Amino acid sequence: MIIVMGPGHSDEQLQAVVRRIEQMGYSCHLSRGVERTIVGAVGHKDKTPLQALEQMEGVEAVIPILRPFKLASREFKREPTIVNVEGVSIGGPEIVVIAGPCSVESEKQVMDTARAVQAAGAKMLRGGAYKPRTSPYAFQGLEEDGLKILLAAKAETGLKIVTEIVSVGDLEVLLKYADILQVGARNCQNYALLRAVGQAQKPVLLKRGMSATIQEYLMAAEYCLNEGNYDIMLCERGIRTFETETRFTLDLNAVPVLKNLTHLPVLVDPSHGTGHWRLVAPMARAAIAAGCDGLLVEVHPEPANALSDGSQSLKPIKFERLMEEIRRVAEAMGRAI
Ligand code: PEP
Ligand code: MN
Repeated sequence: MIIVMGPGHSDEQLQAVVRRIEQMGYSCHLSRGVERTIVGAVGHKDKTPLQALEQMEGVEAVIPILRPFKLASREFKREPTIVNVEGVSIGGPEIVVIAGPCSVESEKQVMDTARAVQAAGAKMLRGGAYKPRTSPYAFQGLEEDGLKILLAAKAETGLKIVTEIVSVGDLEVLLKYADILQVGARNCQNYALLRAVGQAQKPVLLKRGMSATIQEYLMAAEYCLNEGNYDIMLCERGIRTFETETRFTLDLNAVPVLKNLTHLPVLVDPSHGTGHWRLVAPMARAAIAAGCDGLLVEVHPEPANALSDGSQSLKPIKFERLMEEIRRVAEAMGRAI
């Protein structure tokens, strides 16, 4: 349910509503918009009905949220969520590009990539130090040593760090290095992990599970929001279909669908979404035209020697060209990069 406060309500009236909702056994989430303050009351169905709150001073209306996702919905929060990561805003007018290698492999590899993507206009550096690999025999990541390399690259370039968490047990160490915690496609419905990052005071980039419907995906985001972390960003990265020419099928429908259903920022990953470096630029352009708030692009100084995802990684020079192209698309869309 959402409790819409009237235009002239007082702080005391709002506090009284919050207290009442909590007494009734629901948890309360506030959304203070430009025009309206909305109180979200979330809890199990068998609790006392909330409709009677309409009688309270300062309350304008009590409205059920019909969708199963509540805090993620546009009904709960009309205005787009803008996630601020040390001065870089995601979800606002500017399109943010996150670029870097799939895995952190060495200091030189990360430094070379970081310098190149920063010069080309990326605002954030990505790189996995804990890798969720399909095969247990594949490179699993440099772990904390890899995080130290990312931090050194941040110190030199100012790029914010986006890196993946694969296990709740790694959260404490990751919090020391990451600016954004990435939850990967394979963990999109790992509810223990979603709860843990939801309790952390750190923005989260939640990638869509390769077989998660949009509704299931938003329910995954709801897990984080319900723990009190509102800095959640979504990222379409391709889904499984019958098609085998590409690694996944990049579901660009998801961009306008998500933008309509949720206030959370929506990013697109054309690297994993296609699996082929040649397809990255066209799908990046299309993603911006579809209305995304940011891109996640894999870049490697020597894709042929990459320890993971080389075939979908751009060389720095190609990334530079991509940035020039997408700047023009962004401009046509009334956005900037
Ligand atoms: C990645 O970003 O390197 C990654 C593993 O992505 P995904 O979880 O989307 O497969
Ligand atoms: Mn990858």
